Amino acid sequence: MTYGFNTLAIHAGQDPDPRTGAVVTPIYATSTYYQDGVGRPREGYEYSRTKNPTRAALEECLAALEGGTRGFAFASGMAAEDTLLRTVCVPGDHVVIPNDAYGGTFRLFSKVLERWGLRWSAAPLSDLDAVRAALTDSTRLIWVESPTNPLLGIADIEALAALARDHGVLLVVDNTFASPYLQQPLRLGADVVVHSTTKYVGGHSDVVGGALVCSDPELADRLAFHSNAMGAIAGPFDAWLTLRGLKTLGVRMERHCDNAERIAQFLSSHPAVASVLYPGLPEHPGHEIAAKQMRRFGGMVSFRLRGGYEAAVACCEATKVFTLGESLGGVESLIEHPGQMTHASAAGSALEVPADLVRLSVGIEDIDDLLADLERALG
Ligand SMILES: *Cc1c(COP(=O)(O)O)cnc(C)c1O
Repeated sequence: MTYGFNTLAIHAGQDPDPRTGAVVTPIYATSTYYQDGVGRPREGYEYSRTKNPTRAALEECLAALEGGTRGFAFASGMAAEDTLLRTVCVPGDHVVIPNDAYGGTFRLFSKVLERWGLRWSAAPLSDLDAVRAALTDSTRLIWVESPTNPLLGIADIEALAALARDHGVLLVVDNTFASPYLQQPLRLGADVVVHSTTKYVGGHSDVVGGALVCSDPELADRLAFHSNAMGAIAGPFDAWLTLRGLKTLGVRMERHCDNAERIAQFLSSHPAVASVLYPGLPEHPGHEIAAKQMRRFGGMVSFRLRGGYEAAVACCEATKVFTLGESLGGVESLIEHPGQMTHASAAGSALEVPADLVRLSVGIEDIDDLLADLERALG
């Protein structure tokens, strides 16, 4: 029996508690477990860094939603990324990253893992020839974001997976912006999916977390080993909040997409707006690929203002329903200026973003209130 996405989100890994019948997975706030005899833990439960029932429920659910075999939950998206990279790479390895990678990912490569001996180059992932040209003999993996942050670029995951396979390198997809409801990279040929569950998966801006999902059992065993050895795991309270959010991912994403589509259309015809970056618009260069690999086009909308930097900052500071703040993917709408906020650390680098850019994380409020708020803020 195979179940649909929303059924899995509500039930995968979440059978009623065997002792009490509790329908909701309890928060197992325990560091250690009683053993039936010396060296005889029950179902591998010996210490909560290694395994915890609340975290295990979340991990099983995430694996089911991504169509993978094993999931791993971490204290943050960055912890998930760091654990993955130091599991599959060794110093001297090279990786290809998107030229508009998430700012924190870029910082991890350029300021932390580079000192550890990892080498990287940035390429526009929408250009397969550029990605091929960036590969070296020591390339270990290609890091993909689609849609990208904050420019909403689209990469052809299936084509990149074929390229990666041909060159014997891993394809890693940061699926944070799409969420597993809209896009399932493992089914498109990717080897590993990364999430900041802080965003759409958790969905309520009340918890920071990360996750990895893969299919290959050998890779899963190595990730399990490193997750335990490095210890950046999600705690039981955070795992519980994330699991609670995950149950409604499907209905939330439909509404995020409804609202974002309306806002992208509105901005496209607004005289103060120079261009709108949203993969759901037919004129977006990645529209066809997005339509092929995504169920819908997501809740993130970026746009550039004719009035340049000053207009972008003024707009961000003028909205009332859209809250000025970093992060994304929660039920409430957020607005930000990537150049000075989420992507400030990329200033002066190849990953610098335009100063006239505004990024919206479109929430699930009433669309008329969101449109009126933007209308007012754009003057
Ligand atoms: C937020 C984010 C991350 C980092 O996750 P944290 O939970 O903040 O550590 C990684 N990738 C993308 C695309 C993100 O938006």
